[in-house]
Amino acid sequence: MSYTEPSALANHLTDTVLPVPPAVVDRGSAVRMKPGMVSELISSGTAKAVLISQRKAVVTAGGLWFGEAAELWEALAAAGRESVYLGRTLLPSSLAVGTPVLLFTLAEPVSPGTATLPADAEWAGFREVAGRLDATDTALFIEASAISNWHATHRHCPLCGSPTEVESGGWVRRCPQDNSEHYPRTDPAIIVTVVGPDGRLLLGGGGPVDAKNYSTLAGFVEPGESLEQAVVREIGEEVGVRVTACQYLGSQSWPFPASLMLGFTATTEDTVAKPDGVEVTRSRWFSREELQAAVLSGEITISTRLSIARSLIEHWYGGFIEDLQP
Ligand SMILES: [Zn+2]
Repeated sequence: MSYTEPSALANHLTDTVLPVPPAVVDRGSAVRMKPGMVSELISSGTAKAVLISQRKAVVTAGGLWFGEAAELWEALAAAGRESVYLGRTLLPSSLAVGTPVLLFTLAEPVSPGTATLPADAEWAGFREVAGRLDATDTALFIEASAISNWHATHRHCPLCGSPTEVESGGWVRRCPQDNSEHYPRTDPAIIVTVVGPDGRLLLGGGGPVDAKNYSTLAGFVEPGESLEQAVVREIGEEVGVRVTACQYLGSQSWPFPASLMLGFTATTEDTVAKPDGVEVTRSRWFSREELQAAVLSGEITISTRLSIARSLIEHWYGGFIEDLQP
């Protein structure tokens, strides 16, 4: 092993990992500790609120809908609403920089045209509307989805079964019986480009063996396992390929319901892949030219730009891959 100058190493990382986007929301992890801060914000009349119910948010043609928090909270009084502090915006968007934003959640959606919702608003899932969201809308939709999914499924103490109470702006649930504190959870999953000895990329897919969609391989990290161990295990299980090295490239929150996707690129000396037939029903090696040609001819489809899978594939490719225009 030759010694690498630290500056050279830093340059290498800058050149190879996925770009780090700027922060979009200041979550105010100290600010939200203050008891009653959400009620104060609502009554201040300065806060905006996004509304989520059953994994859908209220959107309009312009993007995520932001209600006036005070009026909306009042209008939803009979609807069993709950609140979470999402933070203050940091970038110019449809909201002024520094706007405090709350999440209101409902067990059942209310109709557009009622409770201060515009008549032309609609309830929509993230995938349906992601293409028309700016960076602020995207970050808030993802944050709101993650925290609302957690609240929806963690209402009772895992130790004694008592209903828990919400604290810290909606970021902690506490058991009134045994005083235990419970924090939002995220499930780590690895997602990997596997590159063979000849530089080709291994992609796979599930479902019917003649399906056209191909993507990176992925799987959940198990308790007691490092990320690297998960990469080696999952790739071995899914396509029977032995990973010899892997490098972390970047991550993406994917809280539908609770995943954090940790992107890696891995190398293997193997040239034959054997899909497990369960999670992965087909796999295929692609050179750069073959992949671009297969996408442009409509022979295969690959993940959209919403996903880190596409970023990982294009990291290997070395640039943008053109999609077949419909
Ligand atoms: Zn308890």
